[in-house]
Amino acid sequence: MALRFYNSLTNKKEDFIPIHEGEVGMYVCGMTVYDSCHLGHARAMMAFDILVRYLKNQGYKVNFIRNITDVDDKIIERAIQNNELISDLTQRTISSMHEDFLKLGLELPTAEPRATDHISGMVEMIQDLIEKGHAYHSSGGDVFFAVRTFPEYGKLSNKNIDDLNPGSRIAEDESKQDPLDFVLWKSAKEGEPSWDSPWGKGRPGWHIECSVMSLKNLGEHFDIHGGGPDLLFPHHENEIAQSECSSGKQFANYWLHSGLLKINGEKMSKSLGNFAMLKDLFVSYHPEVLRYYLVSSHYRSSLNFDNASLDQARSALARLYQALASVEGMGHELDQDMMKQFSEVMNDDLNTPEALSILFQLAKLINNSSDSAQTAKYAATLKELSGVLGLLQDDPKVFFQFGSLLLDEEIEQQIALRNKARDTKDFQTADQIRESLLKQGIILDDSSEGTTWKKS
Ligand SMILES: [Zn+2]
Repeated sequence: MALRFYNSLTNKKEDFIPIHEGEVGMYVCGMTVYDSCHLGHARAMMAFDILVRYLKNQGYKVNFIRNITDVDDKIIERAIQNNELISDLTQRTISSMHEDFLKLGLELPTAEPRATDHISGMVEMIQDLIEKGHAYHSSGGDVFFAVRTFPEYGKLSNKNIDDLNPGSRIAEDESKQDPLDFVLWKSAKEGEPSWDSPWGKGRPGWHIECSVMSLKNLGEHFDIHGGGPDLLFPHHENEIAQSECSSGKQFANYWLHSGLLKINGEKMSKSLGNFAMLKDLFVSYHPEVLRYYLVSSHYRSSLNFDNASLDQARSALARLYQALASVEGMGHELDQDMMKQFSEVMNDDLNTPEALSILFQLAKLINNSSDSAQTAKYAATLKELSGVLGLLQDDPKVFFQFGSLLLDEEIEQQIALRNKARDTKDFQTADQIRESLLKQGIILDDSSEGTTWKKS
């Protein structure tokens, strides 16, 4: 089967045919840098990390652009709240984001453009849109995109232009010619960052930056555009309108969107206050546990997070590490049948849950095999295929030393088994259990009251 993706633009799975053979131009909307990253952000970033990794694995040269939004209402608000310079806030947040992404093992983008470095390009595109009759300078000083000048508006989100309800956004600016119009350039307000433009001092609206930064790095027409589910409308719809009205060409061929990460049934977001910061999770979990958890469901599905989910991910990943650690010599030869099965499921819109089940089949084969040459081959295949998903990249010893990988009840079960062995004077088994727990960071303490345990 050829590589295929679910394209949000056509609402169906389509074979991936790149514009230039062997090359992929890909743009992903990145972070707005006003606070640290939470697991919801990691969900979207991981979806596109898997895509980049798999495209590279399939031999494509990937030009992967992920932007940074470093000027925006939320950033301005937060800087005022914190009583700090905007540049200090964004620099600090960018460093923190890079640290988190590095821990998660996200592939580095080819370029990571920042909005504030592309203001002149944005002014140029806005001017071009005004000249072509798609934008206007309003009496209030802002510049708006005239949505009704683009008859295809709504083609990504399947919305009919006449059914759109601008809702509360009417209140945004009364100088709009049509409530549907969205802002391209905001005139300067007291105390806000601003740049010179033909319409006086001001700053760009949010949507225009992605049209400009993708144009600069990938050209007018490129292969894949990705982002989180909440960006589909209006952000991505507006990007299409701006870019296609300016260039007169199709913008991106394939639009990919990740699914939501929910917590107790609600979207994980800072505004709802129900989020798990990556930095906090890294204290208790090896970063690959987070990665495993995120790839254990399909990137488009909605994923519900609760406290047990990371513990389950940790146990599952430990089983794979255990299989790998049990092998003495790693082979060079790969199991071609397993390799083929893996690419078949990944070719089908990156079906990572199925890909993981192939890794477990390999672990089972390793555990059950008594032929050392076969075991070495399965182990090499397990390591190779896990690498495509960014898993099993650490030394198993380091992984097992990272906190306890066992659930409390599993430890209690092991202690009960050891007690049974000691009761029957099977000290060899009792010692083996103690050793095995120790390797997993659990120290047993025997006293007249019985056996207690603690984490090393
Ligand atoms: Zn964007």
